[in-house]
Amino acid sequence: MSKFLSTEAGRLDPYTPGEQPQDQQYIKLNTNESPFPPSPKAVEAVRGMEAEKLYLYSDPLCTVLNNALAERYGLKPENVISGNGSDEILGFAFRAFCGTGRGVAYPDITYGFYQAQTALFGLDATIVPLRKDFTLNIADYMDFPGTVVIANPNAPTGMMVPQAEIQRLLEKDPERLVIVDEAYVDFGGESCVPLIPKFGNLLVVQTMSKSRSLAGGRVGYAFGSAELIADLNRVKYSFNPYNVNRLSLAAGAAAVEDEAYFQSCCAAVRENRAWTVQALEDFGFTVLPSCANFVFAKSGAVPGGELYRRLKEAGILVRWFDKDRIRDYLRITIGSREQMEALMETLKKLLRK
Ligand SMILES: *Cc1c(COP(=O)(O)O)cnc(C)c1O
Repeated sequence: MSKFLSTEAGRLDPYTPGEQPQDQQYIKLNTNESPFPPSPKAVEAVRGMEAEKLYLYSDPLCTVLNNALAERYGLKPENVISGNGSDEILGFAFRAFCGTGRGVAYPDITYGFYQAQTALFGLDATIVPLRKDFTLNIADYMDFPGTVVIANPNAPTGMMVPQAEIQRLLEKDPERLVIVDEAYVDFGGESCVPLIPKFGNLLVVQTMSKSRSLAGGRVGYAFGSAELIADLNRVKYSFNPYNVNRLSLAAGAAAVEDEAYFQSCCAAVRENRAWTVQALEDFGFTVLPSCANFVFAKSGAVPGGELYRRLKEAGILVRWFDKDRIRDYLRITIGSREQMEALMETLKKLLRK
């Protein structure tokens, strides 16, 4: 800490990203990336022409990307904003919609970035515990007057809330904004995007990091009423007007347009997930019902932290959270079939000793 750090920044509790080792070759099942490369059309889009145009600023309106997203999801471009990953969009939303007089509510077990953003912007957070079985009780939010943030499917549990329940929350109080973070929805959740035209109090945030294999491209986006999107743009233009770079705009638009490739990747992940859940359960693990591209599982025999370390020594990275209620669990990204087979082989070796 330097002597120049402000008291506000000194109080932050930054989000810890999953390890991205640059040295050793691990089987990487720790950050929910796709095991597949991006669409060949997205790769093609960033070759050549776009690279040569890097001397020019990118389009602050993100026109090609927003148009492609609007078309794909049956909305108008004015209902779309794109960002440098959905973390940035979430940041805009926390800044825009969770301030003085409103505050924000989210579950105790959810995406750690909400906590980090809350601290960064000095927001008033209400933490609502999930039930003992990690399901979310929508009734807990019905009378909360501020902004509600729900990751659906949730991270790191992978469990989803039915769309009908979120609709009930939206209907209960049109004065309350509900932000639904659908980072994992393409792997089996129920999307709230179809509700956008009906509800002015709904913002849906998605990302190309997981289901469209563009984690390193940093492309996220949100859908909402034209008014909500205009509010987010106020924050964006006060912070980073050229927030999505040229290469990512081109890659993102091409990825959205390649529907067949997207569908085949999502289907492969679902298939590998079913295989992995079965293999883990056969081996005595408890696995929460996942609608995402990861599973949240506990061995029962070995504490989560110890199993995480033993897997790492054996060359497999998974995610472990040293946090009450979930300390016994590991979050395991669904990789290729070969990767999941290697995981099971290694677990068998480690746990039979
Ligand atoms: C991965 C993730 C995001 C953000 O990902 P970006 O790479 O910033 O788009 C947002 N929400 C949840 C729940 C996530 O797991």
